[in-house]
Amino acid sequence: MAILVTGGAGYIGSHTVVELLNAEQQVIVLDNLSNANVNALKRIENITNKTCVFYQGSVLNKALLHKIFTDHQIESVIHFAGLKAVGESVNKPLQYYETNVTGTIILCQVMAEHGVKQLVFSSSATVYGVPDSLPIRENFTTGATNPYGQSKLMVEQLLTDLHIADKQWNIAVLRYFNPVGAHESGLIGEDPSDTPNNLMPYICQVAVGKLPELQIFGNDYLTPDGTGVRDYIHVVDLAQGHLKALQKLSTRPGIVTYNLGTGRGYSVIEIIKAFEQASGKQIPYRFSARRDGDLAAYFADSSLAYEELNWQPLHSLESMVESSWLWQSKNPNGYND
Ligand code: NAD
Ligand code: UDP
Repeated sequence: MAILVTGGAGYIGSHTVVELLNAEQQVIVLDNLSNANVNALKRIENITNKTCVFYQGSVLNKALLHKIFTDHQIESVIHFAGLKAVGESVNKPLQYYETNVTGTIILCQVMAEHGVKQLVFSSSATVYGVPDSLPIRENFTTGATNPYGQSKLMVEQLLTDLHIADKQWNIAVLRYFNPVGAHESGLIGEDPSDTPNNLMPYICQVAVGKLPELQIFGNDYLTPDGTGVRDYIHVVDLAQGHLKALQKLSTRPGIVTYNLGTGRGYSVIEIIKAFEQASGKQIPYRFSARRDGDLAAYFADSSLAYEELNWQPLHSLESMVESSWLWQSKNPNGYND
């Protein structure tokens, strides 16, 4: 029996494929490479000494999905494939809803037709919108402020309705906080195709001289040093969370939602200092205006995942910044090196 990983060549997907292969699972990857490089899959083979089957194509391609489910005995699906840039989603809402929502509908239709009803879905902490208090628990009110977040909420709703209609569906919705870091080999990592929007890849590119300086968006928040606080989680811990969620699906039927974060927030300044320490590089920065839509602080209560999945993040902040730097310094041009 195999596990289908959509978006498996991407940042979180590639790290999860490594953990699945290391756990002796058979893996099929479907990715249209719109935001990934096929070299990631070759590097996965180097890391694990194992291979996965790769299909280049879209989750919107129903015929291709049918072929994959016909050709392989698939028991469950981890669905990472999607578009994830918040700003871009505001300018391209149709593309975001089509890929993220229609893509999931088509995937679930084909799964149902082939009798495969175990699904792990990549959601995001962004579905909490502006939380009433911190840390954020799974039962907090949700709300979206942009098409990306809305698309994640729509998928969460459709998966809930799917389970109401057919109790055979077992679904884990994982709400990620801020994934950072890279595999300890330095062979796979985050490889943004454009100028990064997120803090860690931006710092990495400043460190290798591709970008001149970091702008810190706001230093007047009500946080200890005035800069934004986020819950950064090592991508390998996140990947492990998917394996734990898959195990859980076989024993706890239904639809379940888990936060995956560390429960500990770090400020922008703390991240810069930790990165400088790990890399020996100085990160030039200047303070600029707050970024639209940003909140002062955002971090998870992940105790539910700890209690029910027996999952907890094992990597420290030091390990997050060290591995980010190892990946970036070994591959200044990402997978094109
Ligand atoms: P990523 O862009 O690296 O990975 C997504 C992968 O999906 C890419 O490899 C891309 O080529 C592929 N893809 C896109 N459209 C596709 C399509 N139509 N058919 C097949 N493949 C397609 O992003 P990531 O950071 O690895 O994110 C994975 C998932 O996690 C996404 O659903 C994202 O929304 C979610 N998520 C990410 C973060 C984050 O900060 N990275 C946070 C919360 C949630
Ligand atoms: N940030 C920053 N400069 C950047 C990118 C991000 O100061 O170039 C800050 C941002 O304001 C937030 C934190 O870093 O406080 C994390 O931002 P990111 O975009 O990585 O994650 P998100 O805001 O989506 O949680």
